[in-house]
Amino acid sequence: MTTHDLTLIAASDRSSLPAEPFSARHLIDGNWCDSADGGVFERHSPAHGVLVTRASSGGVAETEAAIKAARRAFDDGRWSSLGGKDRATLLLRVADLIDRERGRIALMETLESGKPISQAKAEIEGAADLWRYAASLARSLYGDSHNALGSDMLGMVLKEPVGVASIITPWNFPFLIVSQKLPFALAAGCTAIVKPSELTPATTVMLGELLLEAGLPAGVVNIVLGHGQPVGALMTTHADVDMVSFTGSTAVGKSIVASASATLKKVSLELGGKNPQVVFADADIDSAVDAIVFGIYFNAGECCNSGSRIIVHSDVAEEVTERVIALSRKVPFGDPLNPDTQVGAIVSPEHQSKIDSYVTTAVAEGATIRLGGGPLTVAGLQDQFYQPTVISGVTSGMAIAREEVFGPVLSVLQFDTFDEAIALANDAAYGLSAGVWSENVHTCLEFTRRVRAGTVWTNTWMDGFAELPFGGMKESGLGRELGRYGLEEYLEVKTVQMRIGRTRAPWVSNR
Ligand code: NDP
Repeated sequence: MTTHDLTLIAASDRSSLPAEPFSARHLIDGNWCDSADGGVFERHSPAHGVLVTRASSGGVAETEAAIKAARRAFDDGRWSSLGGKDRATLLLRVADLIDRERGRIALMETLESGKPISQAKAEIEGAADLWRYAASLARSLYGDSHNALGSDMLGMVLKEPVGVASIITPWNFPFLIVSQKLPFALAAGCTAIVKPSELTPATTVMLGELLLEAGLPAGVVNIVLGHGQPVGALMTTHADVDMVSFTGSTAVGKSIVASASATLKKVSLELGGKNPQVVFADADIDSAVDAIVFGIYFNAGECCNSGSRIIVHSDVAEEVTERVIALSRKVPFGDPLNPDTQVGAIVSPEHQSKIDSYVTTAVAEGATIRLGGGPLTVAGLQDQFYQPTVISGVTSGMAIAREEVFGPVLSVLQFDTFDEAIALANDAAYGLSAGVWSENVHTCLEFTRRVRAGTVWTNTWMDGFAELPFGGMKESGLGRELGRYGLEEYLEVKTVQMRIGRTRAPWVSNR
């Protein structure tokens, strides 16, 4: 195959590339500050190679200062003692400010991550919606009451904020993922320290600017920029932190569980996935093929929800594969700044090599490349693009069928019976999401019940709503984000038992 068969969007208008890099600093106790040792790191646009961000590189001193500020802010009640109405008012103000700055935030998200600008704009819009939804939860925070414990007893279950939350986010959806965590933590009354990935620090800093403009009290949200070591690691071990909310790789997630265990912090994890879409012979093939192409190329496959393996009934497997290949050629890959682009650049050269090594290994293990299978050159842009890739003849023992490639690489597996389809779908250490395509409601329902995944899509893929919880089973995570469950993660339960009158029988006779 030559890349002429693909739909490529060459570099076009460079006028939105920044003349000067964005300057990103830590936000600690309401003040923007540099690192004590003057350390900085830089981020170049993966698509254009232009310096887009120069950021302070945090160390132990900045992390400890941020944790101390968050602890103080929580303990003195400057945020947690506010009523839900006041917290909600502030979250709504932040949502309005995000809308106001949508273009600026989306541009920086595109420049740092390589994702298409039209997608980035939609993500920022979605993030504002999450702040609004969390505001509604802040006004409907309640526990339980027990009025049937006997006439002399009233029981109450209070919901209280967990306390200081460490929020650690990855590079694939920087603004959206921080917005799946922070407004829910704030709605609950927590204070926070946030660390974005060192590849994508800028938009979290922009969010910090908006939080201050909205009037959030100093110290309630602190941002420390830098690497997993030492910043992230200290955020997961420090005794003043009550909880860690992390999105990223399963390997780092497991290490966080271990490091947080010394102080028994609450841990919430959104990790990887090896998400199957199962296509039965009676499926609406047109819709399934479009959803498969969307599922694998969205965000260049750098997505925990990537539909990276399809499991297709053998009667329609060849037809589905051929149609997926044909549609893959029509997906516009290229300049992320062009509004027509649907797939942009790969985040880093190291990640590009990792994707490629999975493809090479799959071929060595006996799989067949049907489309793509290597890096992609787009005129006028950096060598950081990967071809839309479809690999058939994949069997469940191959690494490409089990591990998270995190790139635009689709594996095709086949089945003959329903039980085989379920066994293949569940044959992974992950359990984030799964999809089923069939016109038979009984097939869909049985699949939904038997598949082990936190989200199941039937005859659709990757829809998402603020109201619906999201998270993984097995090695895909712990806990849930979004919906009421997303708020519950940041709440602690306190039981109160109130005796009515002097009715308690003495334990020791005092006669
Ligand atoms: P990581 O899991 O390594 O990083 C995610 C975040 O955790 C970053 O902010 C990182 O900091 C931080 N971090 C790293 N080490 C530690 C630590 N010991 N303690 C606390 N925080 C830490 O993801 P990567 O960005 O390196 O990507 C690696 C792979 O992870 C990808 O190829 C992909 O397979 C997977 N991934 C999965 C995601 C998902 O949504 N499920 C999201 C992103 C990645 P920093 O990187 O700045 O050092």
